[in-house]
Amino acid sequence: MTADPSRELVRAYFPGARSENERRLRGEIDATLDHWFRWRSGRFEDSASNYAPPVAGSPAREGDLLGRRLLTLCDALTAETPTFSPRYIAHMKADLSLPGLLGWFAAMLHNPNNSSRDASRVGSVIETEAIAALAEMLGYDPAQAQGHFTSGGTVANFEAVWRARYRLDHWLALALHVAETTGAPLDPFAAAHMGWDRFRELQTACAVSDDVLQSCSAAASNPGDVWRRISRASGRDYRGPVMLAPGNRHYSWSKSADVFGLGGEAIWSIALDRSGHLDLADFERQTERAWADGRPILMAVAVAGATETGAVDPLDRLYDRLDQWRAERGWRIWRHVDAAYGGFLRAMLDGPSEAALAPETAAALRAMARSDSITIDPHKLGYVPYACGAFLTPDAEHYAVSAFDAPYLDRPELGDGKWSSTLEGSRSAAGAAATWLTAETLGFGADGLGSLMAATVEARQAFEAAVREAVPEARFLPADSNIACFSLSRPNEGLSQSNARTQDVFDHFQGSPHFAVSRTTLGVDNAALIASLLGGHGGYNDRPEGDAEMLVIRCVFMNPYWSAPSVRHDLLPRFIEELRQALVGPIEAQAA
Ligand SMILES: *Cc1c(COP(=O)(O)O)cnc(C)c1O
Repeated sequence: MTADPSRELVRAYFPGARSENERRLRGEIDATLDHWFRWRSGRFEDSASNYAPPVAGSPAREGDLLGRRLLTLCDALTAETPTFSPRYIAHMKADLSLPGLLGWFAAMLHNPNNSSRDASRVGSVIETEAIAALAEMLGYDPAQAQGHFTSGGTVANFEAVWRARYRLDHWLALALHVAETTGAPLDPFAAAHMGWDRFRELQTACAVSDDVLQSCSAAASNPGDVWRRISRASGRDYRGPVMLAPGNRHYSWSKSADVFGLGGEAIWSIALDRSGHLDLADFERQTERAWADGRPILMAVAVAGATETGAVDPLDRLYDRLDQWRAERGWRIWRHVDAAYGGFLRAMLDGPSEAALAPETAAALRAMARSDSITIDPHKLGYVPYACGAFLTPDAEHYAVSAFDAPYLDRPELGDGKWSSTLEGSRSAAGAAATWLTAETLGFGADGLGSLMAATVEARQAFEAAVREAVPEARFLPADSNIACFSLSRPNEGLSQSNARTQDVFDHFQGSPHFAVSRTTLGVDNAALIASLLGGHGGYNDRPEGDAEMLVIRCVFMNPYWSAPSVRHDLLPRFIEELRQALVGPIEAQAA
């Protein structure tokens, strides 16, 4: 390989594993403060100063209480886990980038509130530009795409549910009205996926006013009454919509079912296949079941960068199937991709960094552009400070949300603020500014963040290769991105024994000051993957009373400093040494 561009980017845009960029960061923060103070002093020069010589006992005179308490705070914070270090490979957290820190800092000083243009004349423009930069990376047309920054992936996922529910509710409400006035039977499944074209056609043909539509809406009217009317009009018990989401989904999806009042039963879990991805055959089965049961599909969720394993679901094949159903059966099912973690991997496409991805993973990431909505977390692989997530749609129609108004209605009385279309009210512009500055410097292209993403994937590959070679007990799960998961087992032993050893090793790392790793349990959703690992290794053959779940150690290689060969050469042997030490304890104990 030729000189790795990611190393130069890391050198330019991160504080440095040994704080090599300290002077640079100090200088830029100083310059930012200078700029801010100059701006302040230049405004309202004729206004009075509130300053008077401090009297005895005044906090200003008693001097450095602020300084001392600040020091107390700084001291306390040093007890936080040093997640900037490449030795921290436990969770989705790493050092922050310089553009992330500085963009955040600059916006924080001015403190715009992006809930509306009035409250944020510049912040809201920065937000629009930052969303366009993310949109371009995700494959949306940046001129058409809509979106906003959220506090994180959880709220971005909620934003998707809100919009999908709004759309489904409109389509179903209109169909209910038509069925009630014409006496024709209602098919709730077909109605709830009819599409805006059909909706407009029907609304015009039947001259349905917004008031009438509202009286047929479960969201805007009384849900109990509306469901009863749907049951009557369809001749069968209506049990509400369902949400299809794979077994590796983030727990924010269960929260969303709770918050939106769908009921826990409404989340239908799609099985995972032998490689830990959404199983398309099961997705088809469950869709057919929803159809047969007359339960509309609120949304089909897929995951790009699963929280536990970094797996990227086969979006391309999933969307091909949904396209086919749309063409053949007229079903428009909302497609959401939860790319909170993996969205930035898309920056690797169409450049030399794409080679770090398996072709199936690249094809899946490419298909992300065909989603109705996307969640992405700049505070994960975007290296900007918390709390910064983002929600995007390909166009204004998908972005529209309201308890009731039709999406094509302008609501001039709302101004051009976002407050009416975001779940959150007051919103900081800091995350948008941090993302904006990252787009302007590091860049979201294949030669920018894409090459850094490739370096993180290569770090995971290098780690896996080194550990495999040195530690025969280490058995890795299939991996798509920069997260490695492995268990520790020996030939011809049961899953329970392997789990016990993996737990011991994890406990050792918990007590170690040298590396931080995490652990996770593959449960029933991963039965196919576990079975394939058991069979494939010819080793595990648990007794029936043995464990069904598999414990794995999880290492997240998102830290930018792993791109440096010096860091890899230093840390890989140390990690292997630590792992060997961890293994000695439990194995000897078992032999005794
Ligand atoms: C992290 C994550 C979330 C939740 O995001 P927060 O920013 O923690 O709210 C949702 N989905 C996936 C796949 C994630 O990795």
